[in-house]
Amino acid sequence: MANTVPARPGIEKISPYVGGESALKGAARVIKLASNEGPFGPSPKAVEALQDAATAMHRYPDGSAIHLREAIGARFGLDPARIVCGAGSDELLSLLCHAYAGPGDEVLYSEHGFLIYPIAAYAAGATPVKAPETDLKTDVDALLDAVTDKTRIVFIANPNNPTGTYLTRAEMHRLRTGLPEDVLLVIDAAYAEFVNRNDYSAGVELVDAGQNTAMTRTFSKLFALGGLRVGWGYFPSEIADVLNRVRGPFNVSSLGQAAGIASLIDLEFQDRVRLHTLEWIVKTQEALHELGIPTTQSVANFVLARFDSAATAEACDAYLREQGIIVRRMGSYGLAQHLRISIGAADEMQAFLAAMKTFMKGRA
Ligand SMILES: *Cc1c(COP(=O)(O)O)cnc(C)c1O
Repeated sequence: MANTVPARPGIEKISPYVGGESALKGAARVIKLASNEGPFGPSPKAVEALQDAATAMHRYPDGSAIHLREAIGARFGLDPARIVCGAGSDELLSLLCHAYAGPGDEVLYSEHGFLIYPIAAYAAGATPVKAPETDLKTDVDALLDAVTDKTRIVFIANPNNPTGTYLTRAEMHRLRTGLPEDVLLVIDAAYAEFVNRNDYSAGVELVDAGQNTAMTRTFSKLFALGGLRVGWGYFPSEIADVLNRVRGPFNVSSLGQAAGIASLIDLEFQDRVRLHTLEWIVKTQEALHELGIPTTQSVANFVLARFDSAATAEACDAYLREQGIIVRRMGSYGLAQHLRISIGAADEMQAFLAAMKTFMKGRA
């Protein structure tokens, strides 16, 4: 028998990430509320820019993504030299792990934090460590208690997926201040654009305050370009330099760059998505509460609903599927009693809430 080629230790511990499903057997119309995608499809301006760019797709992209970085810098008031783009922010999270953690090192995250963090840690040969949460919210004290002399990176999704909860600017400052100087704090602010709380900050000021905090962002959520894989981050210059050494030379496609720039400029589209999302977060949470289903107070573009048992959550998911509605099961996050529902278009949310009413009636 041929010898097998061993992968590096740690790789075998990874459970491959499973994304939300898009199709249901036998269903003509599917309502997909499973992956926190845009409720209205992409910006028409992004589609136009992508079509214009298509005829030049035999050319390699600009490896430095300078026009995209300048557009991001202009939109968010940041220095383009300290922005690095990625094939989705997932790529940047992985690259940070590979560059700053390895065998013997610990990568710390919150109990119900985004699943990419342990995957990226294991892939780098490092050990992921979870700090417990209180009421489905990242707990600064628990994180600080979990720091050891092996901790190299702390990942915080703020707001967090899948809980939808967030840490205030003051809580994030307390976390940064409590961490050792040589621990990299990565703030994954994938949902920052949705947050309408004045005690929230995406973390720019923490990045600017030192050499040890990074912030990542994405075009997959508010900007609705998940299929194109475009993300970005804002970094201290030394970390930007490190990422520019380790990233693929052409990691963001020419089409992704073109569509990203066009989406950034389309402020009307962004406002429309944001206002719609805020409206339906409130409506959906209130309607679920009326049905006796508690939720967290989400500040992102999805709702996390809690059922009386894992069996009920499973039954509800099965019933919704029969109605052609796909939401997200949460067992992989240790939240089997919960379902996560992304905010879709108004008619999709109405169909979801009508189905929920029928489901709950059937159980009363
Ligand atoms: C969706 C999401 C991302 C973004 O992923 P992309 O790779 O940019 O599509 C990052 N972090 C969290 C917490 C997310 O939910």
